[in-house]
Amino acid sequence: MDATDVVIAGAGPTGLMLACELRILGLEVTILDALPARTGESRAGGMHARTMEILDQRGMLDGMLAQGRPLQVGHFAGIPLDFSDFPTRYPFTLVIPQSLIETELENRAKELGATVAWDSPVLGFRQDGSEVEVEVGGAQGIRRLRAAYLVGCDGGRSTVRRLAGIAFAGTDATMTGMLADVELAEPPAQPFFSHRRGAGDFSVVQLQPGWYRLLVQRHDRVLGRGTELSFADFRANFREIAGEDFGMHSPRWVSHYGDAARQAGRYRAGRVFLAGDAAHIHYPAGGQGLNLGVQDAVNLGWKLAAVLRADAPGSLLDTYQAERHPVAARVLHNTRAQTALGRSGPHTDALRDIMSELITSDEIRHRLGLMITALDIRYATGCDHPLAGRRIPDADLVTAAGPARVHELLRPARPLLLRLAGTEPLDTDWNRHVEVVTARSHASRWTIPGVGDIPTPATVLIRPDGYTAWATDHPEADGLAELLRDWTDAVAAQTY
Ligand SMILES: Cc1cc2nc3c(=O)[nH]c(=O)nc-3n(C[C@H](O)[C@H](O)[C@H](O)COP(=O)(O)OP(=O)(O)OC[C@H]3O[C@@H](n4cnc5c(N)ncnc54)[C@H](O)[C@@H]3O)c2cc1C
Repeated sequence: MDATDVVIAGAGPTGLMLACELRILGLEVTILDALPARTGESRAGGMHARTMEILDQRGMLDGMLAQGRPLQVGHFAGIPLDFSDFPTRYPFTLVIPQSLIETELENRAKELGATVAWDSPVLGFRQDGSEVEVEVGGAQGIRRLRAAYLVGCDGGRSTVRRLAGIAFAGTDATMTGMLADVELAEPPAQPFFSHRRGAGDFSVVQLQPGWYRLLVQRHDRVLGRGTELSFADFRANFREIAGEDFGMHSPRWVSHYGDAARQAGRYRAGRVFLAGDAAHIHYPAGGQGLNLGVQDAVNLGWKLAAVLRADAPGSLLDTYQAERHPVAARVLHNTRAQTALGRSGPHTDALRDIMSELITSDEIRHRLGLMITALDIRYATGCDHPLAGRRIPDADLVTAAGPARVHELLRPARPLLLRLAGTEPLDTDWNRHVEVVTARSHASRWTIPGVGDIPTPATVLIRPDGYTAWATDHPEADGLAELLRDWTDAVAAQTY
């Protein structure tokens, strides 16, 4: 029976990103996907700032930036949100079809040495205290794979979730969104807009030169999951709401989706984890699902690698659910709010008028925008520094090796101890666990989303996913040695 470190079910964006993370850290990975090959469906059309930062942290962003189109706005329930003054190198939505993101991620995962097996549905698994045995189907017949961990990145109808007996509670669909990726004989002057009309609303998004995504939302009907939507049906629905069809033709993809919102009760069952749509589904309002899945993967990847290499106690794996479940719960909550704000009728119109006015306030625009872009996430830590638990900004530094950006320093996906003040040597016993870089920051203050300006810290301990584990403003870095000693003691006490 073949054996590997981690089996990933599902070669969507979540599974592919997880495979890249694990390969960067030297683990053996097999990705299994039920489909005979990639479908090329465009699906998600946008990527937000925090996901771009995360890809940049691994040197994986440039290809996507080159193929996408920056759009300085996002939206909340269709009400535009200007991102252009957000404190990030990427203060925009990157318009890029999911199919291109997947191709980039798959190419990188393979370059890094991951195995991607198509026509390989996960049919079952059983686990004990030391491994998982995964049963795989497909044209080659039934085969079995052994691994230390199985991660279900197998989408909203996850087989892994069902087999693990994990509940998927939430709310049913109340409306339907329909989309078609098309060419337009009579394209509108604006590349991106949406309007509310009668029983719904419609939007036009230019995906690439010559290619448009047309969307129509109907609050007066719910299409069942298995219902086929033909191009003619889509055009009729679009015309009914928009009053015109811009001469749409040559559809690449036609689909429909609802606003069912559900979340896995647990993200872990022993050696089995869930990530991405397998762990949470919701209406694609604000374009958050793919981003959420990629960020789940980056949260889980380094933890799996650290525990498998005995660099961290097994309890680190429990922080995956503790950190990521609340993040997805917040997305479900905001997408439900957005669906409610999208309904038709004079009551919602009044509410939207008030919301539209409130959003002109910078504070409210920032609050909503930082939530949609996930720039404001704060994980719990035992440290009370304002940076602790938050994403590290991509500050410009000068190191002994020359100029560097903080996010570039995270490319090896290792914990990073950044010393920006204080020169006395630190105890280096724990060098095995962390990369130590001494540097000077160009700026004396850093702008932290959701916090504001803070003095550049003296020492920061940064996790491989780019979140701050610990920070201090004191050059002596009091407390750091103790923190690292506690960590190494916990590792030493662990039996694997
Ligand atoms: C119309 C639309 C627009 C969207 N727009 C956006 C957007 O702008 N921004 C955004 O962030 N998100 C958006 N989303 C959401 C986004 O598409 C999903 O959140 C994203 O695809 C989730 O990725 P995933 O890898 O978790 O799951 P998926 O992409 O669903 O991938 C799951 C994979 O698992 C495979 N699989 C299934 N069962 C098995 C099995 N038993 N064994 C092995 N493999 C299996 C499937 O074949 C599939 O390849 C949109 C979604 C829709 C429908």
